[in-house]
Amino acid sequence: MNPSNRPDSTFDVIIIGAGVTGLYQLYLARKAGLSVRVFDAAGGVGGTWYWNCYPGCCFDSESESYGYTWSKALLEEWDWTEHFSPQPETERYLNYVADRFDLRRDIQLNARVQAARFDTKTRRWSVQLTTGERASAQFLIAAVGVLSADYTPEFVGIKDFKGLSLHTGRWPRDGVDLRGKRVAVIGTGPTGVQLITKIARDVAHLTVFQRTPNYCAPLRNRPVTPAEQQHFKATYAEIHQQLRETPAGFLYHFDTRSAFEFSAEERLAYYEKLWALPGFAKWLSGFPEVMTNRAINEEFAGFLRNKIRARINDPVLAEKLVPKNHPFGSKRIPLESGYFEVYNRDNVSLVELLETPIQRMTASGIETSERAYAFDVIIYATGFDAVTGPLTRMNIEGVNGQTLGEKWADGVRTYLGLLTAGFPNLFIATNSAFCNYPVCAEMVVEWIAGAIAHVRANNLASIEATPEAEAAWVEHSAELASHSFLSDANSWFMGSNIPGKKRALLLYSNSAPAYRAKCEEVAAHGYQGFTLQ
Ligand code: NAP
Repeated sequence: MNPSNRPDSTFDVIIIGAGVTGLYQLYLARKAGLSVRVFDAAGGVGGTWYWNCYPGCCFDSESESYGYTWSKALLEEWDWTEHFSPQPETERYLNYVADRFDLRRDIQLNARVQAARFDTKTRRWSVQLTTGERASAQFLIAAVGVLSADYTPEFVGIKDFKGLSLHTGRWPRDGVDLRGKRVAVIGTGPTGVQLITKIARDVAHLTVFQRTPNYCAPLRNRPVTPAEQQHFKATYAEIHQQLRETPAGFLYHFDTRSAFEFSAEERLAYYEKLWALPGFAKWLSGFPEVMTNRAINEEFAGFLRNKIRARINDPVLAEKLVPKNHPFGSKRIPLESGYFEVYNRDNVSLVELLETPIQRMTASGIETSERAYAFDVIIYATGFDAVTGPLTRMNIEGVNGQTLGEKWADGVRTYLGLLTAGFPNLFIATNSAFCNYPVCAEMVVEWIAGAIAHVRANNLASIEATPEAEAAWVEHSAELASHSFLSDANSWFMGSNIPGKKRALLLYSNSAPAYRAKCEEVAAHGYQGFTLQ
C-alpha cells in the first residue's frame, strides 16, 4: 500500500530523509520492531543521489568503499561497473536496496517536512508536512544529509533572467538538452568541475564564472573488470576494516614516513607517483606534513600548480586557473576527468570574478563590471548551505519554543553532533566528522538505534544532551579546529560560503576512529552527558 494512504500517523520513529542514512536507519528501526515512517521531499529514494543528477555527477570515493557494509547478501549481489560510480548507478543501487529490503512501504515520498514541534507533556514530536498532513512520533531522526540545502547567491535581478536557471543540486529529473545552447556555469567547486567537463563539448558556448580556482586533480576512473569485482567481493571484510581504521574512512593512509626524510628531488619523484594514483590518494595518502607543515604544503601545491599549467595551451589563461590564495587541502579537492583541457576549446571561456565581479542578472544574461553576456541557460553550481542548512530551513521547535535556527544563530551547538540541548529525542543522523559515506554514517545510524533501544528498554521517555556536555563538546571541537588548515580558506566546511553564516568549522576535525571511539564510550557509560528522563 502507498504509505501516504495509510490512516495511521502515530509512530515510534519518524525519519526525515530517504537517502543513504535514512534508508539504513529505517532498516534498523524496523528490525527493532518499531513503527516507523520516513518522509522525503523527493519523488524517489536516494537523497543526494536523487537530486544531484546533473551531467557528469560521479563518486569521488572508490565504489567499493561506498556501498553499505551491513548486508553480506547485498555485498555479494551488487556489482559496481566503474571504480568511481556515476550518479545514475549510485541512484540505482539505493533503489535496489530499498526494494531488496522492502523499505518502500514505510517511505512517503513527495513529502516535505515543513515544521516539527516537541510537546513537553507527551514528550513526543509532532511533524507537519507542506501538504498540511501531520504525524507524531516519540523519536525524530533528521537524516537530511550535510549537503542537501542548495544555495543560490542572491544576485541582483536574479528573477529578471528570461532563459532557464538551474541549480545543480535540484537538477531536473528528465534532464536538460543543452545542445547548441549558450550556457553559463557559476561555480568551480567539485560539482562545477564535473559538470563543466561533461557539457563543454555539447553546448554552443560555455562561459565559466570562477571566483576561486581549485587544486583539481585527476580522478582516473575506469571500468571494474570481472576479476576486480570478484576481488572486492572476496576481500570486503578487509576493505571495511581498512575504512574503519583510516582517518577519513577512505582506503588511504598517510605515509608513515616524514617528508623530511627525503631530499627535494626525491619528494618531487614521490609527488609524481601520487599524481598517477586514482581518487583522493593525492590528498589523503601523501606525506603527513602536506596537511600539517606550511612549507611542505606549499611545495606540493607548487607541484600541482605546474601540473595545471602544463595542461592549458594559453599561459595567461592557465595562470587564472591556478589556485594561489589558499593552501592545498584547505578546500575539498575536486577530482576531474579532463577538466583543464576544456579550457583549450574554442567554445569555452572563463570569466574571473575577482577581477570582474557579477553586478547583476539581466533578462538576457549576466552583467559583470566589464561587460554584458547573453545566455540561454544559467547553471548555478554554487553549492550548499551545508550541515546546518537542511535542519534550520525546517521550523524545528524544541522545549522552550526556540527553533534550531534561533539556537544556532551564533553557530552550531550539539553534543557529539548527534543531539542538541533543548531538543529531546531529536537525533541528527548526519555524518558530522570528516568521513567517507556511508561507512561513517552507518556508525551514526547504529549509535542512534542503540540510544533509542536504551531509552525504550529502560521505559524512559526521552534522551537529551545536557547543556554542560554540549558546551564542552563545542569547546573541544573549536580547539581541534583551531589547528586545522581548513580555516585558511573560505568553504562550506567553514560555513563561509553563505553570507551572514557564522564562520566556524562545521565538521568535527578529529579522526573518524577517534570520533567513533568517543561515541561508543559515551554509550557504554550509560549515555554520559545526556539527560535520560
Ligand atoms: P562548493 O564546493 O561550495 O562550490 C561552490 C562554487 O560556487 C565555488 O566555486 C564558489 O566559489 C562558487 N560560488 C559560491 N557563491 C558564489 C558567488 N556568490 N559568486 C560566485 N561564485 C560563487 O559546492 P559544490 O561544488 O557543489 O560541492 C560541495 C560539496 O559537495 C563538495 O565539497 C563535496 O563534498 C560534495 N560533492 C561531492 C561529489 C562527489 O563525491 N562526487 C561531487 C560534487 C560535490 P568560492 O570557492 O570562491 O566560494
